[in-house]
Amino acid sequence: MTETTNPQVLLARRPAGEPVPEDFRLAEAPVPVPGPGEVLVRNRFLSLDPYMRGRMNEAKSYAPPVAIGAVMGGRCVGQVVSSAVEGFAPGQWVAGGEGWQHFSAVPAAALRLLDPDAAPPSAFLGVLGMPGTTAWVGTTEIAPVKPGETFVVSAASGAVGSVAGQIAREMGARVVGIAGGAAKCAFVTAELGFDACLDHRAPGFPEALAAACPDGVDVYFENVGGAVQRAVWPLLNPFARVAVCGLVSEYSAEPPPPGPNLREMMGKRLTLRGFIVGDHPRAAAEWRDTGARWLRDGRLKYREDVVHGLSRAPEAFLGLLAGRNFGKLVVALD
Ligand code: NDP
Repeated sequence: MTETTNPQVLLARRPAGEPVPEDFRLAEAPVPVPGPGEVLVRNRFLSLDPYMRGRMNEAKSYAPPVAIGAVMGGRCVGQVVSSAVEGFAPGQWVAGGEGWQHFSAVPAAALRLLDPDAAPPSAFLGVLGMPGTTAWVGTTEIAPVKPGETFVVSAASGAVGSVAGQIAREMGARVVGIAGGAAKCAFVTAELGFDACLDHRAPGFPEALAAACPDGVDVYFENVGGAVQRAVWPLLNPFARVAVCGLVSEYSAEPPPPGPNLREMMGKRLTLRGFIVGDHPRAAAEWRDTGARWLRDGRLKYREDVVHGLSRAPEAFLGLLAGRNFGKLVVALD
């Protein structure tokens, strides 16, 4: 059946602290008509990512804010519906669809044809997409780990953390994950092959983490901040490196919580480096090649958390900010 409307999720208002369902609004628009050089894409999977929380605020950030009443921004993979652009034919799978919506008209230059033999299409939003590339940049450029060193990563079962830990393992590190709950920790050790994984919600977590890192921590891949960061900090060895990738536990906090103690940074000669994956444009293709090879060889594992239906996107996104997702969160736009 031909679809005649374009369901969308709009930003209804700016959240005050933690976002709530009323901050979003479901709407329907006409299916867009592609302009010259554009391709009409039926989005099939929408990626939900923590950075979207920042875009709901007015404040200036590395990602521009979504206007009130505008379609929530987000990466999609989908199939070409119609195209007057050479190289794009109906039915082909592409990355580059945009927004929490079923259809987008996208400039052909912003689209990339997907290799259906490399992985299922949704994997290009997670393990072989932006989150996987983030893990690759963080572990190879920002805070590389040496063989035999201890590498700790938070949100270890998630889209970025799961890949970061597996890359560190390939680099010869002892890898310790931190995740929320026993099921996630079991997945991280049994499926992903980390040496240990600690539940940050369990009583005695800081002591358990210290026991799991008897030689201290040489590299910390920071994804969450807050109480987890405070538990890792005292374990950092002299000359330890910290890749500050994300601080998801703090994104809705107003005012932002105080940061780590800089005296310790001086005394231990720590290196802290924040990074944004978009500053490393060559890394995406590099990681797609490496990651696809590792997937084929069985050296790289991933897990997706697939929610069905655009109308469930707001609830799923709120869950992501509270740790209710288990694996890369994507919405199947059925
Ligand atoms: P995940 O798939 O890891 O999902 C987010 C996870 O964060 C949750 O599952 C939960 O895991 C954890 N979390 C959420 N709230 C809290 C909390 N209050 N305390 C502790 N943990 C919490 O998301 P991604 O892999 O997509 O993103 C991970 C991080 O990487 C985010 O901070 C994100 O902003 C950042 N990022 C940065 C990029 C960059 O360029 N710098 C690019 C992409 C992502 P658990 O239940 O295990 O605690």
